Amino acid sequence: MPECIFCKIAAGEIKADVVYEDDYVLAFKDINPQAPIHVLIIPKKHIERADDIPVEELDVLKKMFAAVPKVKEKLDVDDVRLVFNCGPKAGQTVYHMHLHILGGRVFGWPPG
Ligand code: 5GP
Ligand code: ZN
Repeated sequence: MPECIFCKIAAGEIKADVVYEDDYVLAFKDINPQAPIHVLIIPKKHIERADDIPVEELDVLKKMFAAVPKVKEKLDVDDVRLVFNCGPKAGQTVYHMHLHILGGRVFGWPPG
């Protein structure tokens, strides 16, 4: 997807503060952090929404979640909130699915 900002980050065309990378996923610091720790994990392959992953692509979730403890260890954070915003009403602004890892502070519930 040539106009997708996260595809460009995955391709190294736009710089990001990378925390973890393997063949399938990239984890990088959010440019506008909402907590002391705010990392995004993306699949390198373009998938628009986490609530509408094609069945044949579901293995990517395993890769994304396998990266979570690696990010936690690298950034030395204990408790985290993991978030997928799916669609405009849920606050999704970038339509390349991404898992937010937020930590370093106490979070309220319910979320806003
Ligand atoms: P969403 O609102 O779609 O759930 O989350 C998109 C996130 O991507 C936002 O938290 C936003 O700050 C982050 N973001 C948008 N553009 C960039 C960028 O170019 N670089 C980085 N590192 N984060 C970005
Ligand atoms: Zn993309």
